[in-house]
Amino acid sequence: MFSSKRYRYSFFREITFFTGIKRHLACVAFVLGIALLSSLTSSFFSRLQLTYIISSDSDDLLNLHSMKINRFPDLLASLSQNFRFDCGISDINLLESVTYNDYVIKQVAIKTSGNQRCSSFPRTNIKLQVIPLVENYDENVSLWVAFDSEKKQNLLVAEWHEERGSLWVYMEPIVSDTIRNKYCSDCVLSAITSSQNPEVAFWRGDAALFSSKPLFSAQLADGLRVDTYVKAELLELYRDQLYLPLFIMGLTLGVLCVVSCQALARRKMSLHSLVERGLVEKEFVPYYQPIVDVSNNTLYGCEMLARWHRPDQDVISPMEFIPYVEKSGQILAITDQLIEKLTNEMTKLNWHATKQVISINVVPEQLESQVIMENTLRILQRSEIQLNQIAFEVTERKQFTDLAMASDVIEQLRQKGVDVKLDDAGTGYGGFSYIQQLNIRSLKIDKMFVENIGTTDIKLSLLNSIIAFGKEAGMEMIAEGVETEEQSKYLAEQGVYLQQGYFFGKPMIFKDFAYYCKSIQPKPKFEPTMRLV
Ligand code: C2E
Ligand code: CA
Ligand code: CA
Repeated sequence: MFSSKRYRYSFFREITFFTGIKRHLACVAFVLGIALLSSLTSSFFSRLQLTYIISSDSDDLLNLHSMKINRFPDLLASLSQNFRFDCGISDINLLESVTYNDYVIKQVAIKTSGNQRCSSFPRTNIKLQVIPLVENYDENVSLWVAFDSEKKQNLLVAEWHEERGSLWVYMEPIVSDTIRNKYCSDCVLSAITSSQNPEVAFWRGDAALFSSKPLFSAQLADGLRVDTYVKAELLELYRDQLYLPLFIMGLTLGVLCVVSCQALARRKMSLHSLVERGLVEKEFVPYYQPIVDVSNNTLYGCEMLARWHRPDQDVISPMEFIPYVEKSGQILAITDQLIEKLTNEMTKLNWHATKQVISINVVPEQLESQVIMENTLRILQRSEIQLNQIAFEVTERKQFTDLAMASDVIEQLRQKGVDVKLDDAGTGYGGFSYIQQLNIRSLKIDKMFVENIGTTDIKLSLLNSIIAFGKEAGMEMIAEGVETEEQSKYLAEQGVYLQQGYFFGKPMIFKDFAYYCKSIQPKPKFEPTMRLV
């Protein structure tokens, strides 16, 4: 048969592809690839993880500092009142008790107006090599950064200045020693900067040891910022810890992907083989839906619609398999099988003795190949049905790829008396341009337009435009999906007398259709009473 080579070939290819050794190798390579790719993201995720851990560990400290900084002007103003600014015994005692009582304050120092200096814990090794951070934070307050050269950390310093001298309050480093050494020795460092003086970063000796970019930055009050840096070895430590879990996660993900792809392929393949078996077992059955000429209530003809009768199962609607078989190419063999059955059944009905038309749905591919079309006609001609009783309906669902060839085939069909109708007119790709290019003389107006009769939907004006176009172009029109008397009347008033839809009859098996044909009476209007499928 003309079509079997085509679909068998692709079926065979699918089988070899999905069962061969190559498939296993490809799957293993894919899974390993995904696992490796996942583990490569370990630097990114370790950074994220570390940022989260350190920022939550330093959260409380940062809040505390923020609060202190906000209260600096008031705190320093009240503290300064208690000092004499002479570095006498009372000043020294006070310096020590202030430092002792407030655990955010590391050291307090005084500079008298005569340039004498004294401080709490005088032997600590904090370099007064200070850099301005925010000058004139307040009328009497400036902020500085100082370096504790012993511990290599930078400290925020608030300076109170007045006529009697100045008071310097050194805060504990923002990242305390616990955080600094928590993850590995000396590997976290925080530096205070401000928008006024962003240059100030951290103790210069440390710069080379830490990453050039901060791991994260936290905003404090009034344009102050704390940048937290970590040593590369800490990042590496976390990256190495994440490498294996990410690899395993990638492996799992890869396996899941492969399993779902295979399940999908198997489902596709099984549909393919089910259709194949259905063809062998001749499970595809034509249903017939009447098309009525409402001007005199006579039968214009019918549309043949495919159904799949699987053993011990409900009848399968074409919407469930037609899209697939149209893609796979199996539609060609299915159409042949349907036409074969149709000719047998219609001959029993003496269809050839009438002038009624049978509409058969085809895909563009069937109109683009002389070989395929000749084969279809050969099956039809084996019966007594006349070719001028046959029409092919082509939808806009799939595009034509060879319009010139299709135009030739359609012309040859027309010469043999076979009509070609544009199905679902107005719903697809290039529909109306096909009418001209393929010289199509019949339209099937889609039910999507018909169902809007009686409403004010925009589609109703589209229906009117399609009808106006059809009349203007002198085309034969069949309205589909007519479900109510109102729709039927409206269409008849617009001059569309050929109508198809549940109002007249659903698609039915041959036995019911044969009964329908006998029952239909020319006017007065027929009311269907038989069992519809
Ligand atoms: P279609 O060619 O547009 O066929 C009309 C569809 O509308 C049929 O659906 C029919 O049952 C339904 N219909 C008819 N009157 C009414 C109505 O008053 N109300 C409603 N709601 N629906 C109505 P069906 O039989 O499920 O077919 C669906 C589609 O499958 C067809 O749409 C056609 O495109 C495709 N199809 C069916 N058989 C074949 C076939 O042998 N070959 C190809 N290529 N396609 C087919
Ligand atoms: Ca159709
Ligand atoms: Ca249609």
